[in-house]
Amino acid sequence: MSWSDIVLISHPRSTEHAMPFPRPHLESFENPLRVQLARRHLKECGLLKAVHEERSRLATIDDLRRVHSEYLIHMTRIMSELGSGEIGESAYASPVVYQAALLAAGGAIRAAEIVARGEARHSFALIRPPGHHASTSSAMGLCYFNNVAIAIRRLQKKHDIRKVSIIDFDDHFGNGTAEIFYADPEVQYISIHEYDYDNYGMGHYAETGAMKGVGTNTNIPLVDGASDSAYQKAIEKVIVPAVTSFGPEIIAVSAGFDAHYADPVGNMNVDSSTFWLLGERIRELSDKVDAKGSFWVLEGGYNPFMLGLSIEASLRGLAGEGMPDLTDQIPRETPAELENANDQVIEQVVKVMRPYWS
Ligand SMILES: [Zn+2]
Repeated sequence: MSWSDIVLISHPRSTEHAMPFPRPHLESFENPLRVQLARRHLKECGLLKAVHEERSRLATIDDLRRVHSEYLIHMTRIMSELGSGEIGESAYASPVVYQAALLAAGGAIRAAEIVARGEARHSFALIRPPGHHASTSSAMGLCYFNNVAIAIRRLQKKHDIRKVSIIDFDDHFGNGTAEIFYADPEVQYISIHEYDYDNYGMGHYAETGAMKGVGTNTNIPLVDGASDSAYQKAIEKVIVPAVTSFGPEIIAVSAGFDAHYADPVGNMNVDSSTFWLLGERIRELSDKVDAKGSFWVLEGGYNPFMLGLSIEASLRGLAGEGMPDLTDQIPRETPAELENANDQVIEQVVKVMRPYWS
């Protein structure tokens, strides 16, 4: 592995869309600064020069139609023309939201196709708005179209690829992606996320898939405040065996960095060492299962000063470099009770999913 085997996809116009909150004093945290500062960091640490860079292109209507209902596509376009309004829960329109969402989906497609064609081993789409909360018919949680799902359906339609594993390490459960592939035996979805144990929401480990897709949905619902060590255990005990057993032809990564301890939205307690480990393990897994490689698509990550650092760590892991010594890696304490609670969650996930692992 070398840096020339990694492609970074972005586009200058990914900064045009800004999601207005209905209350004027509240600026949205999903804002253009995220990709601007992340890119600046990657430039300053020398990674932009090391990787190969490509621009995203617009996704087509046919690309959207493989995943989304005519209603969602049409409504997003109309609301974009109107210039404001609520397309879905916490997913507001701006005058350029439709174009921005097409460009983000197009970035994911480009990342996927570059790896599928063997032009690079791994790719990273530095795009926004994110996608993993968008389901077949609903925009939700800052997401309009499901970028990763659109890219996967394109690979299945236009390239000789059937089996795909998705690793989603965003702080939140990717309900949209889970829904889209819930009964699909060819697409494995694995999500590690903060779970709301007070209200028992979506993303419990008992949700394992339906019909022919039973066993292809894996949820790792951690208790908030989860440490680097809890993530490490979840990676080694669940993600590695699940992907190894499934044997995908390509790995898709919903790369959300909002589990960072300094993130204003997520409530987890990890630093860039966990994001490095994910890069390292996903590179190893791609080799182990003889996949074409992995394509990463940006989801969350709302502290713009930590996003670049977090992405740098993942890319260094993907490139086969040792763990970098980054400024956010500071000692933080985790109460024993919390560590113990997350150990129990991971044990339960293994118990539920092991029967499906070969
Ligand atoms: Zn998130």
